[in-house]
Amino acid sequence: MSNKMQIELTHIKIRDLYNGYEDTAENGVKGFGGKLDIRPQYQREFVYKEKQRNAVIDTVMKGFPLNVMYWVKREDGSFEVLDGQQRTISICQFVKGDFSVDYHYFHNLPDDKKTQILDYKLTVYQCTGSDSEKLEWFKTINIAGEKLTDQELRNAVYAGSWLSDAKRKFSKTGCVASSLGDKYVKGSPIRQELLETTLTWIFPTETDKEGNPHKSIESYMALHQHDEHATKLWSYFESVINWVKNTFPTYRKEMKGLEWGLFYNQFKETDLNPTALESEIKCLMEDDEVSKKSGIYAYILTRDERHLNLRAFTEKDKRTMFERQNGVCPSCSKTFEISEMEADHITPWSQGGKTDLANGQMLCCSCNRIKSDR
Ligand SMILES: [Zn+2]
Repeated sequence: MSNKMQIELTHIKIRDLYNGYEDTAENGVKGFGGKLDIRPQYQREFVYKEKQRNAVIDTVMKGFPLNVMYWVKREDGSFEVLDGQQRTISICQFVKGDFSVDYHYFHNLPDDKKTQILDYKLTVYQCTGSDSEKLEWFKTINIAGEKLTDQELRNAVYAGSWLSDAKRKFSKTGCVASSLGDKYVKGSPIRQELLETTLTWIFPTETDKEGNPHKSIESYMALHQHDEHATKLWSYFESVINWVKNTFPTYRKEMKGLEWGLFYNQFKETDLNPTALESEIKCLMEDDEVSKKSGIYAYILTRDERHLNLRAFTEKDKRTMFERQNGVCPSCSKTFEISEMEADHITPWSQGGKTDLANGQMLCCSCNRIKSDR
């Protein structure tokens, strides 16, 4: 393989890590002469407890080793912290004087103690390689400490101008995507869930000839990594939400968290009548036979009854009907054991049939199959 992944063991002095340290809303947290993204902008903040934070400083002051950290090396030579973010921030904040340990701020320490801290060497694995190699590697090492989500891992691999713009729109509390789609899409922007959902919609998973799913989000991100902006993704998201609002103007809480993008992809060209749809939705919402109300929207578009989890006969109902028929299948007139029979709605739900004893019968398995296939 020409693009072989490399993992290099390095030792970084705290003095070099702290050089250029800044923590701003606009740029996130940076260090290492501005070349290291300790926490990229709009990434979620983990809450690091005072005890954990102080333990890191205590370890450094005693000169004991900290666990290995992992940095990702980008194409332009800059880095991103993949594992060790909180420890790195704790060290930088202590040196800056943001907090004290045992009533000592960094600036209260004697000079030799300060020098000892600044000369302390962190063990850092720097990883370079193709994007897919890095992603696999991250998934493997992402075992200790705060778990990164799949999308956070992808963001580490496919960093670039496209991602920065996408994060601005999808990954910030109160971002435009959240303001527009909050009532329809589940998930937290800061945990990258809104971005992830939109990516699964714009580039849905397909299976290859062997039936393996494509890693579609990764393909999309790789394809657009160096685009200047993510306007296409944003326009797509806007179109999805506007289509939902125009097609289903009456809002119900069951609409939150549905796969709207996939519906949009499939039905955006279909001529749908919002008034007719709404009166049908209203009936289905009131229909006791429909157990899964959130499935009504998928049903109304696809006409697949499985989305509705229609009520089924209970074991008790089945026994009553079986005894009532004396074990005889009304369709073929043969006698069966109850285990060889299945419950059937005489009039199906789609024609107004209910799940009650008056509309029920036991059919033998083969007659039931023949009836369902009609
Ligand atoms: Zn039969």
